[in-house]
Amino acid sequence: MPTGSANPTAMLLRLRKNATRADLEAVLKLARELGYETRFLDGGRQLLEARRPEAAGPGAPPDRSRFEDMACVAQVLDAAEARELAERSPDRPDTVVRVGDSATAFPAVFGGGCVSLIGGPCAVEDEGRLTEVAQAVRRAGGTLLRGGAFKPRTSPYSFQGLGAEGLERLARVRAAVEIPIVTEVLDPREVERVGATCDMFQVGSRSMTNFALLREVGAAGKPVLLKRGFAATAREFLLAAEYVLAAGNPNVVLCERGIRGFDDVTRNVLDVGTVAWLKQATHLPVIVDPSHAAGRADLVRPLARAAIAAGADGLIVEVHPDPSEVHSDGAQALPLDEFRRLVRDVRALVDLDGRIFVAPEREPETEREMETIP
Ligand code: PEP
Ligand code: MN
Repeated sequence: MPTGSANPTAMLLRLRKNATRADLEAVLKLARELGYETRFLDGGRQLLEARRPEAAGPGAPPDRSRFEDMACVAQVLDAAEARELAERSPDRPDTVVRVGDSATAFPAVFGGGCVSLIGGPCAVEDEGRLTEVAQAVRRAGGTLLRGGAFKPRTSPYSFQGLGAEGLERLARVRAAVEIPIVTEVLDPREVERVGATCDMFQVGSRSMTNFALLREVGAAGKPVLLKRGFAATAREFLLAAEYVLAAGNPNVVLCERGIRGFDDVTRNVLDVGTVAWLKQATHLPVIVDPSHAAGRADLVRPLARAAIAAGADGLIVEVHPDPSEVHSDGAQALPLDEFRRLVRDVRALVDLDGRIFVAPEREPETEREMETIP
């Protein structure tokens, strides 16, 4: 149930042209049952306002869904107030999500004009290599280390990740390099175990509609990186975030990672338009994964630049010193020197926008900026 904003009192339903009398009666009956007063706003009886007298009834999102489920309702339009927790309303500032324990290193900060970078291998594999990547990511300007212990592979015969052993390796590297960790959780039953190691949960593209998982990470209290399903609409993406928010966890970072297209020159189609749209539609931070969008290392840097230019609050990038060694996503892994070039570009673009690049170390030239982080 939403909290923090007044209950909306009105809803606008756009009805389909071919709605029958029986359809209309069903809508009016449901509205009455939910405590709404109704009136048509047009002679064609296609625009129905449903208004609830001041103190009545439950919050609106469940009501809105009931109407959206009716075949004769084409759309439930915005009323005066935001009615879902993820929606941006005029008086709602950006949500700023911090990740990591500031006692050891500077945390990653997403949103509110702050841009942070996540880097690391696709999967946790060799521990020495993971340490090397973590150090390189941090030195280059990344504030979070990525790496999957549990991998959601399209084929059950592909490498599935090291599981519990992977989590242990992540925990050791986290402590040694003093860098916070984001790692994927695939199963609601694993949330507690993964949460004991990570600073941020990753919910992957293939899990975006695993509602049990969304509820579980919502209740777990750590920040969540929610990746867009590769065939999900922007609205479905926001509603997935809504599950986490409604479970009481406000720290959600959305991640656009490319959607399925008809061409195969890139692995997915990076939906930059939706990044720009999301920045208007929601107060939640939005980051981009150029690696899974491109599927090839040589296109990662240009996509990263496009993402930041479109307003993204950060990036998650797959990085590895020797892509030929890895068991998953080697073709898109950025070598370390390329990652450093990418960071340099991102810093310049962020600067151009007057935003703040959140570096992992306090550097003389960023000292003044760090103090202005909300
Ligand atoms: C990943 O981050 O390695 C991954 C599997 O991403 P996605 O869920 O976006 O495919
Ligand atoms: Mn990957």
